[in-house]
Amino acid sequence: MTTRLTGLVGWRGMVGSVLMDRMQAEGDFDHIEPLFFSTSNAGGTAPAWAKNETRLQDAYDLDALKRCDIIVTAQGGDYTSDVHAKLRRAGWAGHWIDAASTLRMKDDAVIVLDPVNLPVIRRAMAAGGRDWIGGNCTVSCMLMGVGALFKAGLVDWMSTMTYQAASGGGAAHMRELLTQFGALNAEVRALLDDPKSAILEIDRKVLGRQQALGGAEIENFGVPLGGSLIPWIDKDLGVGKRPDEAGWGTSREEWKGGAETNKILGQGAGFGTAAVPVDGYCVRVGTMRCHSQALLFKLKRDVPLADIEAMIANDSAWVKLVPNTREDTMRDLTPVAVTGTMTIPVGRLRKMAMGPEYLGAFTIGDQLLWGAAEPLRRMLRILLEA
Ligand code: NAP
Repeated sequence: MTTRLTGLVGWRGMVGSVLMDRMQAEGDFDHIEPLFFSTSNAGGTAPAWAKNETRLQDAYDLDALKRCDIIVTAQGGDYTSDVHAKLRRAGWAGHWIDAASTLRMKDDAVIVLDPVNLPVIRRAMAAGGRDWIGGNCTVSCMLMGVGALFKAGLVDWMSTMTYQAASGGGAAHMRELLTQFGALNAEVRALLDDPKSAILEIDRKVLGRQQALGGAEIENFGVPLGGSLIPWIDKDLGVGKRPDEAGWGTSREEWKGGAETNKILGQGAGFGTAAVPVDGYCVRVGTMRCHSQALLFKLKRDVPLADIEAMIANDSAWVKLVPNTREDTMRDLTPVAVTGTMTIPVGRLRKMAMGPEYLGAFTIGDQLLWGAAEPLRRMLRILLEA
């Protein structure tokens, strides 16, 4: 493996911090010369994992970026929109590995999730591919859990209803949620301390405080999330277009579910094959980390539940089949149980009342690990080992 100059942009953000942790844990820094960039502190001191390049570079300095063989960025979509095309136009032919969605659906970009789509990645590498983009966090976690059913060609269609954590929005969103929880608690602390206080009084005061949250308290989510939920994530794609184009009243996060699932699997538009319809509702909830999803599959045929369980359990080292019991579910199938782990539990597996081809499942993934950082660092290793 050759040591290559690898630019790291966005390393102190939510995804970037988790990426740095994982890269250290897996010894990735042994194989690269890291060059740390910043959009806010150029000239500052690079983090402890720096080797020879101990100063933070300006993340908008094309000459500094052009020095890199590989750039890994978790800085965000605005940064990618600003820099990537300029860098390519300036003749940079290095590998660009990115967490942002900006480039995902470009024809020459591959959405990387190697436990699911290594053949797609290898084909693109052989064809001279240079842009490697991490998938939408919910989609990647879902495919890590139930990808086996897609790979076996069993899925006629899938509906997913998501319960997505505050951290999906980034570091500032997590802080905002906790600040809101703190404000709500403070509002009723005296009443909570008094076991004889009336619950309706507590409820009324909490609602009053929620409805009064404003300004900096809701700067990131736009409305209160603490003690509430938001059934819309990402942009409004508008209405009136064909559902297979985007739109039809879907949010951009919901549209990504279908578009990215098919692209990761190397099927649908651009691959000359039929896409599997994937649709549902994406909901922001007041969890800290982990995106959870209730899935409904229409299978192409009636497959015995035991066969489905075996298929899912044997798909990768990271999937964990959770028996469909109350006890197992409550212990192993919650964001609190999964956060910070590489495990993708899949549980609540059962045939649904609509018929034997209808399969229900519930899965959770730490969206900062398999949903963001891990596919990026694994792609880095694939390139270094090529
Ligand atoms: P983030 O936490 O907001 O970090 C992005 C950048 O914000 C940092 O690199 C940093 O840049 C700057 N920043 C400003 N104030 C900061 C603070 N107090 N703490 C840390 N960083 C601060 O965003 P993110 O969630 O990591 O997302 C990065 C990209 O990954 C986005 O494109 C996002 O869509 C994508 N993504 C996110 C997730 C997720 O679950 N969060 C999952 C998959 C993909 P400087 O150091 O240059 O100032």
